[in-house]
Amino acid sequence: MSSIPTFLLDDCGPPQSPLLTPPISPKVPHYTLGLSVKTASPTLPRHPTPKHLLTPANHVDNEITNTKALPPLSWNNFTTELNWLNVFVICGVPAIGFALACYTPLRRETLLFSIFYYFVTGMGITAGYHRLWAHRSYNASLFLQYYLAITAAGSVQGSIKWWCRGHRAHHRFTDTDLDPYDAHKGFFYSHVGWIMLKPRRRVAADVSDLTKSAVVRWQHKYFVPLLLIVSFAVPTLIPWYFWNDGWGGYVYAGIVRLVFVHHSTFCVNSLAHWLGETPFDDKNTPRDHFATALVTIGEGYHNFHHQFPMDYRNAIKWYQYDPTKWFIWSCQQVGLASHLKVFPENEVRKGQLTMELKKLRETQERIAWPAPSHDLPVVTWESFKKQSATRSLILVSGFIHDVSTFLDAHPGGAHLLTKYVGEDATAAFFGGVYDHSNAAHNLLAMKRVGILLGGMPMALDELTVPPSQRLKIAEYTELFAYAPSSDGCAIPASPS
Ligand SMILES: [Zn+2]
Ligand SMILES: [Zn+2]
Repeated sequence: MSSIPTFLLDDCGPPQSPLLTPPISPKVPHYTLGLSVKTASPTLPRHPTPKHLLTPANHVDNEITNTKALPPLSWNNFTTELNWLNVFVICGVPAIGFALACYTPLRRETLLFSIFYYFVTGMGITAGYHRLWAHRSYNASLFLQYYLAITAAGSVQGSIKWWCRGHRAHHRFTDTDLDPYDAHKGFFYSHVGWIMLKPRRRVAADVSDLTKSAVVRWQHKYFVPLLLIVSFAVPTLIPWYFWNDGWGGYVYAGIVRLVFVHHSTFCVNSLAHWLGETPFDDKNTPRDHFATALVTIGEGYHNFHHQFPMDYRNAIKWYQYDPTKWFIWSCQQVGLASHLKVFPENEVRKGQLTMELKKLRETQERIAWPAPSHDLPVVTWESFKKQSATRSLILVSGFIHDVSTFLDAHPGGAHLLTKYVGEDATAAFFGGVYDHSNAAHNLLAMKRVGILLGGMPMALDELTVPPSQRLKIAEYTELFAYAPSSDGCAIPASPS
């Protein structure tokens, strides 16, 4: 049995996972997911991809092609295309709630209870519907599952099964026409517009795991009575029993609280795709912002969430506001939750670094840099001497610099420069006369106008590469374009 060459292990550090047995050899076919099989040897038999693994080139285009869309909303069809029950829930319930609130005194106990009940029912959505059922980011005991299923019903956002199907479609088709809350269709659409419309397409999202759950099936079956009890009866009865404010409880802890819970969840689809930073990835619209976290019970670190959806956390720093994470963690401490999923820190940091490098790259591109070596003319010593008679040309590290406009600005005085015009000032520049600063080296490089034939050192070293260019951010295509030659010099890639 051959072994993996040790130099590979030395270069790359210890392997992350056990070695394959038998070791990979050039004669083993290399499989590509789904589409085809490449073999290193043409004599080896080809293995056709099983039919059920054949995938289209683009799952979004494929889905759009194979699903029928309802027509765009217009004045002619709005009576049939709007979901009137949802229109009432979105528009009518807040109107009724705030109208009743104008005539209902708000008692302190009722206010505190309403806020408490907002968190109880809201967390049924965030910790239950979202992180437990939609993303399976932890395991919950049966007691916790029933608790979350019941309290979430008080948020009146459909059953677990319905909600999770939509949310999984949102993650699968983020920012596309198939995304139920597509942020590109505007803030209003992603906030509430999509709810008031009949779904424009029937989008595939797998919830088969949920249909196997007895709790999910039970909640789906009894959703309407659960909704009425948890959303309206309980918040009426508790204030009535304990501090004799049943009507106040109904208005504030029931209706008004429900409106706040609704818009809290809706903000995850709208505000979290609109406001804030993209510290982990900027491919799509999800963003991180404290304000969104504040109004969504901790779901505001949405950029992180879309990158690492199985992570039980939205906020990864201890000081960020994510009460849902704290709730799940607390449940684990008392044995109600287990197997909390956390994405590998190493991968999270890769995303962060990529975004930091992107920002640095933008800064890099806003800065003027010396002309690349391959753009400079190659000049003979004789020509350099001849041209130095008419311009102040100085040779340093094989590069010819025109310092005509810098003579008066030279901190050491013009005379130190003029005596090296038409001469090699390499030794003088790097310590012979003065050990110039990095800034001076950077500035000198900006004055490059040519390369002396045979005068450029064969290796990249600190005499030829200005300090500001020793670390640069390059696209991977740029790295290939200037692949090092066998002797270590950077050379332009051939046009072919
Ligand atoms: Zn989202
Ligand atoms: Zn999610």
